[in-house]
Amino acid sequence: MTETRLLLGHAAAEALYGELRETLRTLPFVPSLRVLRLGEDPASVAYVRLKDKRARELGLKSAVEVYPHDLPEEALLERIAELNGDEGVDGILVQLPLPPHIRTERVLEAISPLKDVDGFHPVNVGRLWSGGEGLFPCTPLGVVRLLKHYGVELRGREVVVIGRSNIVGKPMAGLLLREDATVTLAHSRTQDLPQVARRAEVLVVAVGRPYLVRRDWVRPGAVVVDVGVNRVDGRLLGDVHPEVAEVASALTPVPGGVGPMTVAMLMANTVKAALLRRHGAFR
Ligand code: NAP
Repeated sequence: MTETRLLLGHAAAEALYGELRETLRTLPFVPSLRVLRLGEDPASVAYVRLKDKRARELGLKSAVEVYPHDLPEEALLERIAELNGDEGVDGILVQLPLPPHIRTERVLEAISPLKDVDGFHPVNVGRLWSGGEGLFPCTPLGVVRLLKHYGVELRGREVVVIGRSNIVGKPMAGLLLREDATVTLAHSRTQDLPQVARRAEVLVVAVGRPYLVRRDWVRPGAVVVDVGVNRVDGRLLGDVHPEVAEVASALTPVPGGVGPMTVAMLMANTVKAALLRRHGAFR
């Protein structure tokens, strides 16, 4: 039996950082990222710290604005409007989830599509699906980049995505379609999910249920991408059971698979936002 290949996010992310450094060397300005965080949710604190650290390591300008948990929605919207108009800011990211008194949709729609480095603004969502240029969500972008890094062919392949969130599953399907894959988007109401999953030559799982996908869900030789991050008894577990390694030809580890790619794509989106805005290629 041939060994299952591990698709390592850190290796693919390093390659991307190398390319971004090359691009940055050619620019007469330094792209800048502004991250807004409300409250002290430990996961959000950790994610924001990591994004800021990576941005600085890459040589971008990065600043984090921290506001109290009970910041009024209007105050957040006003701050976003200021940042939209600030020529010195290329990318704006509001860390999710937001406290319940704030309407997430209003906030995401307030960010200028030109600075929307998370790719959640409806204009960018529309551009993703209509085939235009835009800023697209980091996690699914990272999955595509990871697969390309390891030479996984997508054109014409049967790809099944499990999970249909706006953050991962839906944009994942859209990006895979742009890569000419034949895409099935499955979710909690899908009938006979194991059988649907077994169709996949490439299976992407973004559900948030530890070890949901078992060995018999996977077509022998399939490439399996595990987006899931589940904290169980202090350990991080994916959505895919480790026994899947017995049948898959390639598999992403958790942690160390998709996670590093998500952060790397945020950096790529910040550079892209800076270029698109300055070159007017995105009006
Ligand atoms: P989400 O918003 O909760 O969406 C979960 C999706 O999974 C929904 O579409 C849901 O279906 C579907 N689902 C739930 N239970 C299911 C089941 N038993 N069978 C089939 N489908 C089921 O989650 P998310 O934001 O997309 O995140 C998914 C996972 O990815 C989480 O573990 C999250 O932590 C992780 N994640 C990782 C990264 C990274 O960088 N590595 C980034 C983002 C998210 P319905 O729509 O029918 O309810």
